[in-house]
Amino acid sequence: VNHMNHASGAHERLENLHPLAPRILAHLRDRDDELRRDLAEWVAMPTGHGHAPGLERQREAIVSRLERLGGTARSIPGDPRPDWLLPAAGGGDGVVPSTTVVARPASGPRVLLGGHIDTVHDPDGAFRELAPLEGHHATGPGAADMKGGLLVALAALETLDALDLPVSWSFFLNEDEETGSFHSFAALDSLARAHDVGLVFEPALAGGALAVERMGAGQFRLETFGQAAHVGREFARGRSAVTALARCLVAVADLPDADKGRIVNVGPIEGGKATNIVPDHAVAWGNVRFRDAATATWLGERILSLATSPDAMPRVEVEYLANRPAKPETPAVRRLADEAVAIAASIGAALPLAATGGVCDGNILQNAGLPTIDNLGVRGGNLHRADEFVELDSLVERAALTAILLARLQSGRLDLA
Ligand SMILES: [Zn+2]
Repeated sequence: VNHMNHASGAHERLENLHPLAPRILAHLRDRDDELRRDLAEWVAMPTGHGHAPGLERQREAIVSRLERLGGTARSIPGDPRPDWLLPAAGGGDGVVPSTTVVARPASGPRVLLGGHIDTVHDPDGAFRELAPLEGHHATGPGAADMKGGLLVALAALETLDALDLPVSWSFFLNEDEETGSFHSFAALDSLARAHDVGLVFEPALAGGALAVERMGAGQFRLETFGQAAHVGREFARGRSAVTALARCLVAVADLPDADKGRIVNVGPIEGGKATNIVPDHAVAWGNVRFRDAATATWLGERILSLATSPDAMPRVEVEYLANRPAKPETPAVRRLADEAVAIAASIGAALPLAATGGVCDGNILQNAGLPTIDNLGVRGGNLHRADEFVELDSLVERAALTAILLARLQSGRLDLA
């Protein structure tokens, strides 16, 4: 007959997951105040809009602690961003962002952890610091997306180190996720190919949910060239680029179908300079989302087919790039997610599974063949807004979840093959 109360019952289940699991949880609970102070410090480092000094401080704050764990840092230069894309918000200072990797190889599965240190927030705006709200909530730029998550990952590795449990890890930090990861795509793709499991620390979905399926995303530009003419004197000679663009946009408007996992959005658009001149140039930018590779191909083909021959009048030129491949649920991802759910339950946290249309670098990692779960970061909300918030009690919770997951991966208790 079992007379144990609930608490000790949960404790025993935790020990069954890994002999060190109770100590992992206790160690992190002891560090709760310290982690909250770390987060306040990091949130106060402005890393939006390519702000170089803030990015430098944030990068150093993380890299120095990873080096203390025995990691070796290197920097992978970024690729140029295609010049037909809309400029990134804020523009940055012209420096091409690089990707930083800190690696500490050991035996066992090679785990790639990490995330982005950039945020969407204006470094010169009013929203600059972590400020307490009701209960365990606090508001601040990047608090949830994703400085809180990076802290979760770092705290998990520090805990395993403190308990002498060596895990083979590489930690990546990129600086252009919020503007599409165009500079870091190749770096992430090659890192993914040299690892066995991917863990990215984007914030939890609504209700604390873990994403097991993400749509992919792509960008396109439609540009039309016509013949300018004065509207009153020689209208018949003119060929309107705006009309040509409008015909393309009507065709594009037929492509989205939510049931088939296809989303297409157009905007901004530009065309013409004055009402009394037939416009000879117009351009529209757009964004597509798709649920799988076949849908991505279908959309890409139709958008690219709007291009005319180079000597047509009017002429249509099309650029298209699927920069975030779709991330469908795979058996390995499902096993990782189910494992995370079981660990969460044993530490008293709910972890529902969900699908989302939102994209992140997990899309890039998994496209390279790396089984990845990508939003093990903090619970929070109102991302990309001036009231972004973090649930501070999720720092310890998610760090414990991550550390126990890593411990189980290391001990071979979780088979992803
Ligand atoms: Zn993010």
